[in-house]
Amino acid sequence: MRRHYAPLYGRRFCGNSNKMEVHDLDNEDERASGCQIDEIIAHNHAVAFDPDTLQKAHAEGYDNCAKCMEGSTR
Ligand SMILES: [Zn+2]
Repeated sequence: MRRHYAPLYGRRFCGNSNKMEVHDLDNEDERASGCQIDEIIAHNHAVAFDPDTLQKAHAEGYDNCAKCMEGSTR
C-alpha cells in the first residue's frame, strides 16, 4: 500500500536507511512480521528515491527486501 504523505508521497519504493533494504509498496507484505513500513516511517528510516525506481535504489546501495521482492542477496 502506498503512503501519500511524507516522506514517500505516493512513491512505489521505500528504502529503510537502517537496514539498507528497499521495499515495493505495490507488493507489500502487510503482516505483523512483514515489511513493517509504518514502523520504518515512524522511526524516520523511510527513504524515497528520485527517480522512484529499483535501479535508483540499488545505485544508492539498497538491497531488495525478501518479503516483497525476489532477488534479495541477504
Ligand atoms: Zn518489503
